[in-house]
Amino acid sequence: MITVIGSINMDLVVGTNHVPDKGETTLGTSFSTFTGGKGANQAVAAARLGGEVQMIGACGTDEYGKIALASLKQENIKTDHLFLFPDETTGIASIIVSDADNRIIVVPGANNRLTPKEIDEMKDEIIKSKMVVLQLEIPSETVHSILKLCNEHHIPVVLNPAPVNHFKQKFIDIATYLTPNESECKSIFGEDIEKSLERYPNKLIVTLGEKGARFYNGEEHVFINGFKTKAVDTTGAGDTFNGSLAYSLTEGKNLEEAVKFANASASLAVEKKGAQTGMPSLEQVLSRLQ
Ligand code: ATP
Repeated sequence: MITVIGSINMDLVVGTNHVPDKGETTLGTSFSTFTGGKGANQAVAAARLGGEVQMIGACGTDEYGKIALASLKQENIKTDHLFLFPDETTGIASIIVSDADNRIIVVPGANNRLTPKEIDEMKDEIIKSKMVVLQLEIPSETVHSILKLCNEHHIPVVLNPAPVNHFKQKFIDIATYLTPNESECKSIFGEDIEKSLERYPNKLIVTLGEKGARFYNGEEHVFINGFKTKAVDTTGAGDTFNGSLAYSLTEGKNLEEAVKFANASASLAVEKKGAQTGMPSLEQVLSRLQ
């Protein structure tokens, strides 16, 4: 069982030709809602591939919470261990998309209620996992308590350090795999990526967008090329990479094979709009790998 512990959000996406100035009201051109949150995205990525996945996270009992829960269930993700808070709103991301740029406000809501106390309650469930997958959209002290628990019980953990401003240096030694993109890597370890990789062989895996990903295997730098494709929307590329990496590692693949698999999976996901929409099945990934 892969256990993903993390955020569950609804993404509320408004398209507009003109972002309003202070005090101004403008007309939008479109409105869509997507289930999201990095935690839920990672869980969906692993489950689509056929992984046995459970999600630990927190929602409100509002409409968005119901939608999020139903969508996880529909992906065959075990949701028995979600915490529901009737007095809290489900996390949302309000996203304004215009030609010029994207503007995003995240309201964590119930995600902030996943504290070390809830993790302690779920302890027995967590330590049964083959692997745990984490990101940083839940409180940092919660992430730390999960890392300590997994470290104590020798459960491997993939930690995607995003959003990077929530990263704590004390996570480094107790995480099994860290998967920053290039800018997150520089912000955590400093400008020299080569040197950082050499300090953390087979632990630090840096994703390079369309170029793929790299790590250091203890003897040499390993570059795993990305798969060339026509990217339509790269939202959720990192989440797909992480869910797929975890899936492949739990299937017994070595790190090089698992990174290649994750690159193939993420390259399929960027072909469709929306983070979860394009996340592929195992068959699709295997055919891309051929
Ligand atoms: P995001 O924040 O967009 O979800 P990220 O910044 O965390 O992603 P990236 O390094 O941009 O991480 O992408 C993660 C992985 O997704 C890459 O390692 C690669 O495998 C795949 N990927 C991203 N963009 C592309 C692309 N344009 N074409 C093919 N593969 C891509």
